Amino acid sequence: MSTEFPSTTEIADDVQRALKAIGVDTEAIAGDVEVRTPITGGVIFSVRTQTADDLDAAVAAAAEAFTVWREVPAPVRGQLIKRWGELLTEHKADLGTLVSAEVGKITSEALGEVQEMIDICDLAVGQSRQLFGKTISSERPGHRLAESWHPLGVVGVISAFNFPVAVYSWNTALALIAGDTVVWKPAEPTPLCSLATDALLARAATDVGAPAGLHHVVLGGREIGQRLVEDTRVALVSATGSVRMGREIAPLIAGRFGRALLELGGNNAAIVAPSADLDLALRGIVFAAAGTAGQRCTTLRRLIVHRSIVDQLVPRIVDAYGTLSIGSPTTDGTLVGPLINEASFNAQQAALAAAVEQGGTVLCGGDRVLADEHPNAYYVQPAVVSMPAQSEIVQAETFAPILYVLTYDTLDEAIALNNGVPQGLSSAIFTTNQIEAERFTSASGSDCGIVNVNIGTSGAEIGGAFGGEKATGGGRESGADSWKAYMRQATNTINYSGQLPLAQGVEFI
Ligand code: NAD
Repeated sequence: MSTEFPSTTEIADDVQRALKAIGVDTEAIAGDVEVRTPITGGVIFSVRTQTADDLDAAVAAAAEAFTVWREVPAPVRGQLIKRWGELLTEHKADLGTLVSAEVGKITSEALGEVQEMIDICDLAVGQSRQLFGKTISSERPGHRLAESWHPLGVVGVISAFNFPVAVYSWNTALALIAGDTVVWKPAEPTPLCSLATDALLARAATDVGAPAGLHHVVLGGREIGQRLVEDTRVALVSATGSVRMGREIAPLIAGRFGRALLELGGNNAAIVAPSADLDLALRGIVFAAAGTAGQRCTTLRRLIVHRSIVDQLVPRIVDAYGTLSIGSPTTDGTLVGPLINEASFNAQQAALAAAVEQGGTVLCGGDRVLADEHPNAYYVQPAVVSMPAQSEIVQAETFAPILYVLTYDTLDEAIALNNGVPQGLSSAIFTTNQIEAERFTSASGSDCGIVNVNIGTSGAEIGGAFGGEKATGGGRESGADSWKAYMRQATNTINYSGQLPLAQGVEFI
């Protein structure tokens, strides 16, 4: 445990410095809504919040800007994202400071999050020259059948607190090169990260001479989010957050025939097979389960271990957990920072109590630490809990570092456990048996959107599509062909034959 802490005033000073370096007008954004840092629980800023009228005006401006932006050639639109990527690179440390201050991420993870933004900018710039459609053989002579991809409209982005800047950039870099405009409703705990990210994009837009009104951030709570969701001018709502949030908004979007891209909660498992390299598995498990204090959508929450190796592996995990340094995320050597707030701590305590009630045994961790020094901050020891079955609490996502351990005898049983929860985001198998690895990644293997072999469940790369199935919502962001979600497809039939043959041999006039 690390007891070396910055004071709230020092964190507030760092935040001011970072905001100013990025170019945020700190007086203009000031207001009366307190921004707290989970590092000490103290107030580091007071920000203005916004109203339904601000949201309406932002959507109107974005809709207006769309009519201009959609006509700009995509490779030219890419120049905006290229410049944004350069500014993000220049201000990586400043933005990282804000991520640590508002979310409590350790410095390397906060910088890693900004790196993801830079990486998606690189990808989007390349993609801006690759918005391609197919040409399809027509059944009629002298005809060409083709697919066109066009800009979609206004994209509404709703983001979660735990990736306060990366998720926005995954959406926005692709939406902007696709010719869309963006209105962003960030999570309540992270207004400063959002305003700083938006300021860098605004500077990039000025630098490249992009039209005004392409991107907007509107601070506020769920009511602002709901208004964004219900607005018929918003063509696509891309929302990241809990399954509860997704359940609330999905019917509203469907009811107005809007498009939804949902990135919701995960309840991720790793199977450890008898042939696994246990040294490698141990490192993968500990980072995925305890990293980010268990507050990633891809955090490892369920460990499914073959019965023959459980007594070798689990004590090693417990020992490794004992070495994790818990404390201020900005202190060198800290690996586990705070939970976001008291509600999160209460959920962690309730989950542990439920696990014990459902037959579980806490093997290590679970207690709050540093409470005397920082009564308004919530640090917990990552916990490992052995469970007799995949009971109700194991099936729920608790956004805290709790790793449930289950055992299995056959691979079929392990896959059934992996798939036997409502969520379907990330999964992994540790094995050196190729047949097991292939089975896990096959159609009858893991039912998740992310299926890994010999690597943990968290830490995805930008090149691959990111997202999950079932209650995780089915959306895909960042790499592969996710750009298509931000565009609309048109099918063109072009007749150059001088005749008018009808399809399917139909005869008419
Ligand atoms: P949350 O659901 O409480 O809030 C997420 C966002 O949705 C916030 O901006 C919030 O204001 C907004 N919101 C909530 N209810 C709304 C409603 N009814 N209408 C409109 N907007 C609404 O989630 P959180 O606590 O900020 O983040 C943690 C959750 O996010 C976890 O479940 C985690 O797994 C998930 N998450 C998923 C991914 C992914 O890519 N799948 C990534 C990060 C986080």
